[in-house]
Amino acid sequence: MARETGAVCKKCRREGVKLMLKGARCAGEHCAMNRRAFAPGMHGMKRGKLTEYGIHLREKQKVKTFYGVLETQFRKYYRMAEVAKGNTGKVLMSILERRLDNVVYRLGFAYSRAQARQLVAHGHILVNGNRVDIPSYLVRTGDVISVKNRKTSLEAVKLAVLENRNEVPDFLAKSDNEVPSGTVLRLPEADDVAVPVDARGESVPFQPQLIVELCSK
Ligand code: SF4
Repeated sequence: MARETGAVCKKCRREGVKLMLKGARCAGEHCAMNRRAFAPGMHGMKRGKLTEYGIHLREKQKVKTFYGVLETQFRKYYRMAEVAKGNTGKVLMSILERRLDNVVYRLGFAYSRAQARQLVAHGHILVNGNRVDIPSYLVRTGDVISVKNRKTSLEAVKLAVLENRNEVPDFLAKSDNEVPSGTVLRLPEADDVAVPVDARGESVPFQPQLIVELCSK
């Protein structure tokens, strides 16, 4: 399974927003964006104005990094969004929100999407009672996502479940049973999409229309 490696905080600094890639650390004072909210590299502080193409490209890279998706998979999602009914940008963001690793994270079973991805890949997560170890699995309305009722699986999510204070989005319902679980109430819409914040804590919503303008050329 291909995945992107490298210094993750540099990715936030490159995009100028907190992409919350390191879980609990991102909310604390040790977040690199609190100390160095400028692009990485020797000339990071002197970065000039982006070109039109650069603005579009950065938006795409930001979304890809946020959801932990590589280019090939992202293009596949874009093609799915293009042929679907409705606004292509909104549909694209809805598809990304439906990824199983994202849903596991947003239900609070993991500190970050990367940890959620690992939980899924290691077989700790069930969908409708069946083991699904594909992080890119797209959930549907009515799907029940639960942690495997096994000591190692429950241990793996215990701390995140106890400490997570993120709000569960409206398209999901979380059950506070002994075995953590959640239900997909409906497909995610534009308002359900997670919004990153900048170094000052101000929301910086994604602009999917920029991605559409880039990818449709
Ligand atoms: Fe690093 Fe902060 Fe980004 Fe988290 S939000 S990955 S701590 S720069």
